[in-house]
Amino acid sequence: MIQNCNYHCPKCEKSLMKNSSVELNFKRQNHNETGVIHLSPEPGNYDFTTTPNVSFDKGERVIFICPLCNADLTSEKNYKFAELRMMVNEFIYFEALFSTVHGDKRTYIVTQDEIDSYGDADGEIHDDLDDFNP
Ligand SMILES: [Zn+2]
Repeated sequence: MIQNCNYHCPKCEKSLMKNSSVELNFKRQNHNETGVIHLSPEPGNYDFTTTPNVSFDKGERVIFICPLCNADLTSEKNYKFAELRMMVNEFIYFEALFSTVHGDKRTYIVTQDEIDSYGDADGEIHDDLDDFNP
């Protein structure tokens, strides 16, 4: 189990850590609403707070944006996931993919050898990877 790693933006490579949480901007597609979201750095922990305070609809896809370079963090492998860089140390990092569909609690950590899944990910990773479009 990987815990308390630092997350960085895969585009600008800057740290997204703010105090002990991951700070991102978010954009709601259907409500034309933007704000700031704080996520837990612990994989599979889907506790979050938003400013302003919003309650997402179940099944709603939320766009996450790097607050530093404004990059859309939607994964190129699967648009239902956002991709962050999880730094293990100065030299080693993993891809962290987490579901951007509210209520879909899935996080995948892609390491060199394997894919670790967290949350309610029972056996579904292979279906998801089939969906991953180049
Ligand atoms: Zn960035």
